[in-house]
Amino acid sequence: MDQYRKALTEWYYHAKRELPWRESRDPYHLWVSEVILQQTRVRQGIEYYLNFVKQYPDIKTLAMAPEEEVLKVWQGLGYYSRARNMHHAAKTILTEHHGKFPDDYLSIRNLKGIGDYTAAAIASIAFDFPYAVVDGNVFRVLSRLFGISTPIDAANGKKEFYKIAQMMLDINQPGVFNQALMEFGAMVCIPAQPLCSGCPLSLRCHAFTNQSIGSFPVKAKKPKPKDRYFNYLYLHQDNLLFLEKRGDKDIWRNMYQFPLIETALPSPPEEVLSSDAWKDILRNIKYSIESIYPEKLHNLTHQRLHIRFFSVRLVESRIPDQWIPAIRSEVARYPVPKPIDVFLMETGQ
Ligand code: SF4
Repeated sequence: MDQYRKALTEWYYHAKRELPWRESRDPYHLWVSEVILQQTRVRQGIEYYLNFVKQYPDIKTLAMAPEEEVLKVWQGLGYYSRARNMHHAAKTILTEHHGKFPDDYLSIRNLKGIGDYTAAAIASIAFDFPYAVVDGNVFRVLSRLFGISTPIDAANGKKEFYKIAQMMLDINQPGVFNQALMEFGAMVCIPAQPLCSGCPLSLRCHAFTNQSIGSFPVKAKKPKPKDRYFNYLYLHQDNLLFLEKRGDKDIWRNMYQFPLIETALPSPPEEVLSSDAWKDILRNIKYSIESIYPEKLHNLTHQRLHIRFFSVRLVESRIPDQWIPAIRSEVARYPVPKPIDVFLMETGQ
């Protein structure tokens, strides 16, 4: 294993990217960057990271912020439960650790939303504790280097990869080594067409020497995502539009949206327009339909949302209590799901 360690760390010192969260070993900054990078590419992640730490420069400012504001700052990244968990964990750090980021693995791992990967990344990079990290990059590199054909998304696969990563870890500099392995996967041993000709490990790589790069990593078959059909009513009157708050049992928990009609099956617009749900929402209200937008797909991890917007101008109305009137120019203050944000931007609302 020594040769692998040496080659990877030498490569890292020479080729690593300069990234804002690498400028210090502050565990709070590392934590923010790790959570952001779980859901976006590094290039887009930098902007979100800089904005987040500008808004919340330390744990205390994050813990003291209202949840709605945190969700708003997070908007565009998706996976809002991650922002909620960070907010919750920041409060825990403030109350149970006197505002100081815990410096032992178990306390880090016990924070809400922090799993094995993030705990190992923070513990090793910020505190030099010998915990191997295994992210998508590491799965790919290890599977190719050692020709491991156990599916990376199966429980036994995860165990096997963790064991190998832990054996491979350089315990004298675990933080540097973990970053080297992840960076190598992000820049050299990339998913399609890895840069094998310039790879310092090519002669020791099982996949390269056996010409079987396309066979690794192996993935188990994914279950089909669930289809859902959302019809949003963009209701507006003069300079007001109307929102409602989502509940806390479904996706986009406690965020704001337009009144929604969800159908169990795909429905043409005329079916939605004549449905009981439509009549219920617009009961005793005069309105005119301005446009019906074509359906768009929005993919979540386990769900595929088919979303259509109806633009409806209210002519004269007694507004139902559950609707929240929002002035158009101020609607950006509300945390809204990405498809609604995109709709408002694209239609210039
Ligand atoms: S030789 Fe190619 S497949 Fe093997 S580790 Fe290097 S980049 Fe990855």
